[in-house]
Amino acid sequence: MYFPNIESCATRNIERIDASESLARALQRMLECDLRDLVVDEPNGGLGIITIADILHARNRNPSLDMAISSIDLQPLPHVVEGSNVLDVVEQIDRGSDYLAVMNKQGGLTGIVSTSDILGCLDPQVMMERQQIGHLLIKNQLKVLPLSASVEEALNILESTSDAVVLWGNTSEDSGILTTKDALRLISLGVEGNEPAADHMSKPLITVSPQMTIKEAVSYLKNRHFHRLVVESDGVLLGLMTQQDLIGIAYSRWAELLRDHADELREVVSVLERRTAKLEQLASTDALTGAYNRSRFEKILHAEIERSSRYPMESACIILLDVDHFKSVNDRFGHDEGDAVLKQIVQAINVRLRSVDTLARWGGEEFIILLPHTLEQNAMRVADDIRQRLEEIEHPRGVGQVTASMGVAKLRSGESAEQLFRRVDRALYEAKKSGRNQVCVQSDP
Ligand code: GH3
Ligand code: MG
Ligand code: MG
Repeated sequence: MYFPNIESCATRNIERIDASESLARALQRMLECDLRDLVVDEPNGGLGIITIADILHARNRNPSLDMAISSIDLQPLPHVVEGSNVLDVVEQIDRGSDYLAVMNKQGGLTGIVSTSDILGCLDPQVMMERQQIGHLLIKNQLKVLPLSASVEEALNILESTSDAVVLWGNTSEDSGILTTKDALRLISLGVEGNEPAADHMSKPLITVSPQMTIKEAVSYLKNRHFHRLVVESDGVLLGLMTQQDLIGIAYSRWAELLRDHADELREVVSVLERRTAKLEQLASTDALTGAYNRSRFEKILHAEIERSSRYPMESACIILLDVDHFKSVNDRFGHDEGDAVLKQIVQAINVRLRSVDTLARWGGEEFIILLPHTLEQNAMRVADDIRQRLEEIEHPRGVGQVTASMGVAKLRSGESAEQLFRRVDRALYEAKKSGRNQVCVQSDP
């Protein structure tokens, strides 16, 4: 019950319009049906969504609004399947689409979901009961104009930065608000830009106190069908709180619930964990070869340095490997062939390593290997064995033999990662200088 599924939040009251219809027609339909958005049937069979904000935006380019809906860039309408968990949906809305289409298993559109719908289906019981909205206000969301402001000034603000503008007198009785929805009405009535905006605002300005709790705020918005709260205290405007702000709070509350109800919600937890693991893996591996990337290697090496400072008797080594004349592989056989060689090299190295060893792509055609619990002479032996294995590979499609040079260095006690890298780099340089396809060790100070 804390995580309703998506059908229970979706609006089934959908109006559809064909992309070939004009923007003026879309505006008229929104007003007739009292909707803030219409689902658009696109010529390719896909769905989009047109909102009040799109119409305001288009009007700047062409006030007559006679161009076809298909001529403007619409928000895509990603879809979710009935039965989806509301958590997934919140995540998608976070990623920038304000709306999602709800489809049944047969692919038919059954509803749309917006941030306000999700808010509407939250159980106020689970909302924070004592948290006051005064603590959560984001000041710059409040756009205020004097009562003398013109319609055009108000429309400009609505088009670019905000979904509502407050026209402030001295008290809330004298003041009012203009929302994007009012803006539509002004445009469709052809109101002149130089008219006073105050003549068209909703008045008086309904404000709430900063002491209102989140729970009260949720019910307040829901019951009054408001999309935002204007917060005022003793004649001073403090800020504006949108439905989205409240969603954010609800989301963190859900996170707490996830912790407290781990048993009941085990399934949801495991879905989230799997997703996190996947993201972590993506963030720590190199996409081409599947080896770890540099930043992941640096973390592992730092842990090893830390460990070796506690157990100085243990020895760890690193190998820095650079493919020889790799530029010429690319030049002669093309970049794709070069990529295939790199993948093959990683595979061959992996076969030789133990599970405690770490192989990472250091960059380009350079790789780095950490060998924990390994003496220098053993690291040399591993490196030379890898060298031989690489040399023996007959790369397909005429590429033939590709060799590599390597530097080996043993981690010294008290040494930083940077010092170690400098030494192993010098060893690699020696190997290149002495003719490539070689292993050199760096043991000087
Ligand atoms: P040396 O023996 O001195 O190391 O010569 P080299 O040609 O290997 O060295 P150089 O640094 O001149 O060239 C490295 C080349 O590796 C140039 C670059 O285009 C190529 N390279 C780097 N990353 C990739 C990659 O992901 N795929 C492919 N195909 N080539 C890459
Ligand atoms: Mg190189
Ligand atoms: Mg090279």
